[in-house]
Amino acid sequence: MLPPETKTSPLAAPITSLWGVGGERAAQLTRLEIHTVEDLLLHRPRRYEDRRHFRAIADLSRDEAATARGTIVAQGLKRFRGGRKSVFEIVLDDGTARLHCRWWNLPFMEKYFAVGDEVFVFGKLVETKPRTMDHPESEVIEGGEESFIHINRIAPVYPLTEGLPQRWLRGLIWRTLERFETQIVEPEPAPDLKLFPTRANAVRMLHFPEALTDGEIARRRLALDEFVVLQCEMRLRRKNFEARAHALPCGGDNRLMKPFLAQLGFQLTRAQTHVLREIRADMRGPHPMRRLLQGDVGSGKTVVAACTALMALESGFNVALMAPTEILAEQHFRNFSRWLEPLGVRVELQTGSRKTVETRAPGAGSGPRHLPSTLFVGTHALFTRGFELPRLGLVIIDEQHKFGVAQREQLVRKGDYPHLLVMTATPIPRTLGLTLYGDLDVSVMDELPAGRGRVKTFVRAADKLPQVWKFIREKIAAGRQAYVVYPRVEEQDTTGDVKAVTREFENVRQVLAPFRAGLLHGRLKSADKEKVMAVFRANQIQALVATALIEVGLDVPNATVMLIENAERFGLAQLHQLRGRIGRGAHESFCILISGAKNGEARERLAVLEETTDGFRIAEADLKLRGPGELLGRQQSGLPRFRFGNLVDDLDLIRHARVLTAPPAEGSRKNI
Ligand code: ADP
Ligand code: MG
Repeated sequence: MLPPETKTSPLAAPITSLWGVGGERAAQLTRLEIHTVEDLLLHRPRRYEDRRHFRAIADLSRDEAATARGTIVAQGLKRFRGGRKSVFEIVLDDGTARLHCRWWNLPFMEKYFAVGDEVFVFGKLVETKPRTMDHPESEVIEGGEESFIHINRIAPVYPLTEGLPQRWLRGLIWRTLERFETQIVEPEPAPDLKLFPTRANAVRMLHFPEALTDGEIARRRLALDEFVVLQCEMRLRRKNFEARAHALPCGGDNRLMKPFLAQLGFQLTRAQTHVLREIRADMRGPHPMRRLLQGDVGSGKTVVAACTALMALESGFNVALMAPTEILAEQHFRNFSRWLEPLGVRVELQTGSRKTVETRAPGAGSGPRHLPSTLFVGTHALFTRGFELPRLGLVIIDEQHKFGVAQREQLVRKGDYPHLLVMTATPIPRTLGLTLYGDLDVSVMDELPAGRGRVKTFVRAADKLPQVWKFIREKIAAGRQAYVVYPRVEEQDTTGDVKAVTREFENVRQVLAPFRAGLLHGRLKSADKEKVMAVFRANQIQALVATALIEVGLDVPNATVMLIENAERFGLAQLHQLRGRIGRGAHESFCILISGAKNGEARERLAVLEETTDGFRIAEADLKLRGPGELLGRQQSGLPRFRFGNLVDDLDLIRHARVLTAPPAEGSRKNI
């Protein structure tokens, strides 16, 4: 990726313009997503091979892959099972010992080698008597003018595709670099060259490093350039947006806010007050608000959403609040109706299965257009069903991580550039936050309301379940309620390794009798889900047996026990969200993670949850263990693809890119 002004650079030429790249080679390169000279120069080696030093064949081991070099002293192809199976074998000698290299069922390998050839092989031994490697990476050493590209140096080993030889690609990249190196210019803005090599140097070091550390130095420089391009794009998007969009005046006058806060029954936390001050400044400002509110589970984002909604409602505008599930939309609808209707605000619900707008008689009798200021609560049905939202001043999206970036964009195109507040409880590691949400201002709520009971977390093996159930019965007998979570709705595999909620439900019911249990999962009808939630909320049932559907947003303070079976099936961030369903009242809470996995690794991973309740630390651990795609969920398609950038490790580079691209007047904006 190069900045847009270099689109006309010679590097943009197609690979077919290179000498020696005909139709077949071009097709192979295209399969590697190499279309232009620039793509070729940025094709990243998979690893490097130090061909200045070799491992003696006598010193090769089973444990560590290494490069050896030898001469072929014998070779042969054996066929068996009537010719359907084969093994091709070469025997190398380097003066210290002999090495057998075998390729199974790849008879055509025969034509690449001949007795007397010198060969590099890279791999581990599978047998020591005789020394044998199966399917080693291999390359025949050829003499001639270009041999210095491949031997007696640290050689790059590239990702390949069928039919494309390593040696040919390395030669092509060498020649292309020779010819185009001077055309690789510094992008604008360029980094401090006291800290980084030039871009041209970095590209050379990437392919033909002189020291083993050069590859990483090069990667960092090229990663920085990627982050700079991304930042420039985001800044440009933001600038265009601000030039085009004028803010609706939604600062409010406190006439509803005052009585709302007075009847709330608790004081806002310091963090809530601080965030509301930032939001109020946005809602009064010249540009529509684009703000992300990150607050750990239970930090009280809903009240912040209510206060923000009141600012817009006081100003005479309508508000839309979107939740990712119907259950959560219903919960918000109930809370907001209770809070806001006494203040004379209409609260309406619109989900795929339930609409209140049509069922109530709206005064003038002709739909929402004539309603007084209204808060519409719903799922994405709010926006996809041609539902008109007149005088829309503010859109609030709860649990942003469940929506893709594209949906976010689509949403705020509705209406006249309404203000936008997105809320998420997934603590997004800073690297991801800066890249994904670089176009949003960010507020962080880093404080939980006072008076919360502690949450204790235990990881247990499945054989401890009888004691765990006894413990849960005691808690229920003392008046509390419990969630019991399984990874699946129905049995899919016959091995029975992963428990399914529909099957376990009967079992839980018996274990807990005479206490009562209810079942909740995504395949139930909406009305049934809502009914089960209502009886659970009213403590008519004591245990809710569910899938991870309950992960987002549910708020039942009397529930203090969370049992999660097959916990190894969930990501850490997701388990943290699930755990966020408890610890919401004054009682002490207990989260019990049952690890069905036998391996210690899974248990070790879960131990992070025993050690900390800090959502940011958990998210960072999850990012390291599973990568960004998993952490954010598959829907989160907005993640940029990087050739060199690494969202786990490159926080310093991302920060550097932000500083490089910051406009001079920045500072008044509260970006992270
Ligand atoms: P989340 O940030 O996870 O969405 P909620 O908004 O659901 O959290 O709030 C969790 C619980 O904390 C709710 O029962 C809410 O009424 C309560 N709460 C919110 N703010 C405060 C506060 N300042 N003091 C006491 N309780 C609060
Ligand atoms: Mg919430």
